[in-house]
Amino acid sequence: MRLTHGAKFSQMERTISKSIRPHGPQSDARFTLHQRQPRADKLDAPQRRLCDADPTFMAALRGRVSSEERWSAFIDGASYYIALEKPCGRCGDFRKRTRDRSCYRCHLVRGANNFERMKAGLAPKVMRNKDSHLDLLDRQRREREGDCLIREFGSITVTRWPTGRLEVVFPDGYHERDLAKRKPEEVYRAMELLPELKDALIWAGWY
Ligand SMILES: [Zn+2]
Repeated sequence: MRLTHGAKFSQMERTISKSIRPHGPQSDARFTLHQRQPRADKLDAPQRRLCDADPTFMAALRGRVSSEERWSAFIDGASYYIALEKPCGRCGDFRKRTRDRSCYRCHLVRGANNFERMKAGLAPKVMRNKDSHLDLLDRQRREREGDCLIREFGSITVTRWPTGRLEVVFPDGYHERDLAKRKPEEVYRAMELLPELKDALIWAGWY
């Protein structure tokens, strides 16, 4: 708890700490070299890699994630967990995205709409990036530094890059550098031939 706040803030922090405020200090000097502090609001791939590399980082992050279910899902690489006590206000689903605790079903519905767009030959909305220029520069820098997430789905190997580029190595050895550059109907056809590509696209947030 920071002591620099006035009395009013202390009061407020006490109230917040009971519900949503993450545990632990805001900024921990031990993780300066990682250029990343453990943060529970976005359990993403870079944080998972830091957990693999540094048990201290893992312990600090663990202390900030209040839900056991969410933490296990994060460690297992699962995309959702069950939160029976917090059904979605919009659709009533009990599944939450591991990444940010948002509703998993609402996420899938958005993805399904994108698949309809792909079938129709339109780019999925998620790939149309409206982020700021600075954010783009930051993600380009991370990509140059090799910040990526690699995962195998059956016979294919998929790599996610910070700029959103999705690299795929197919069973016949064909190497697709950026799947988003392919025509949506080609991607859709490939997915019908290789069901694991669909799992990969779900993992990549396309679906
Ligand atoms: Zn929902």
